Amino acid sequence: MSETSPVLPLNRGGHVGHCKRFLAGLPAGAVEADASRVAIGFYCLGSLDLLGTLETKTRPEERAAWIRWMWEQQSVCGYGTGFKGSNYMTIDIRSPPSAQYAEYDTPNLIMTYTSILSLAILRDDLSRLDRKGLVQFVRSCQREDGSFSALPSGGETDLRCVYCAFAISSMLNDWTGIDLNRALAYIRRCEDYEGGYGQQPSDEALGGTTYCALASLYLAPSNASAQRLIDSAFRARTIRWLLHNQAVDGGFSGRTNKISDACYCFWCGASLAILGAGDLVDNAALVAFLARCQFSMGGLAKAPEKPADPYHTYMALAAAAVLPSPHVNETWTLSRLDVLWNTTEGTAAWLRKHLTEKA
Ligand SMILES: [Zn+2]
Repeated sequence: MSETSPVLPLNRGGHVGHCKRFLAGLPAGAVEADASRVAIGFYCLGSLDLLGTLETKTRPEERAAWIRWMWEQQSVCGYGTGFKGSNYMTIDIRSPPSAQYAEYDTPNLIMTYTSILSLAILRDDLSRLDRKGLVQFVRSCQREDGSFSALPSGGETDLRCVYCAFAISSMLNDWTGIDLNRALAYIRRCEDYEGGYGQQPSDEALGGTTYCALASLYLAPSNASAQRLIDSAFRARTIRWLLHNQAVDGGFSGRTNKISDACYCFWCGASLAILGAGDLVDNAALVAFLARCQFSMGGLAKAPEKPADPYHTYMALAAAAVLPSPHVNETWTLSRLDVLWNTTEGTAAWLRKHLTEKA
């Protein structure tokens, strides 16, 4: 991009339309995402929240229907209470949320995190949340080595699930569901020689898992403060590695020698913001890259000329929110982001009032 190329304006109306299309139902080409509809709902609602258009561009009855559907995903199982990604596995969808479901149909830790955020975005008062059951569910997802899995019955464990457990515990202001010493030791074992964090110990550093590790360390209660857990030499290496991931096209790649991707603009940019180094990013080049990821029919894609999807739409907008550059093009002014919970400051304030302070 030449230095004089103007940054394309934010296609606010187009992005609203993209999100509303996915909120109305999954297109045929996306049926494989049926098991994680809650997450797709979060990306769409989160995008509308960042755009500041949830109240004006959706009807109260639509919001009430989404709230109703979200609560239908809260389910009790032998491991406690959490949210499922959708009711596609539930044999009788008329079963009340308190029904006992089989081992294969347990709640999911990642879907639980996105459900709580979605309900807060929709300004539900969260009084129906089974707090005690939720803490029990978080506890059941921790493994012997300190990591977390998405399902209590086991399966893959990685830093994404660790982050969800930390985010939920901080929202509830209840850390009794986590063996913190073991979890923090696991995060540190994921440190990689480049300065980032791998998905699991000994894995290559990735932008996404680096965000999950750093956000978890900063969310942890103050007696386990991040300053103590990230030594200054490693912090300097992390900042250097993250900054090197910003390519000449302005976007960030997720790992060394890969091409730019809009979602990594958030994962890497937010990681730098957490470390207090967000001002070292070339924000103008970043927003210019994101602007070129806008799809002509609305929504944002992982890269220019690619089709848009709700995940990259949300992540790209979140990146622009956490590293604002209104001096470049004022149409890119978005709601401010709470970088540790990954939601707008308005929604984070709602969560604190209705959940955290009620502990
Ligand atoms: Zn991506």
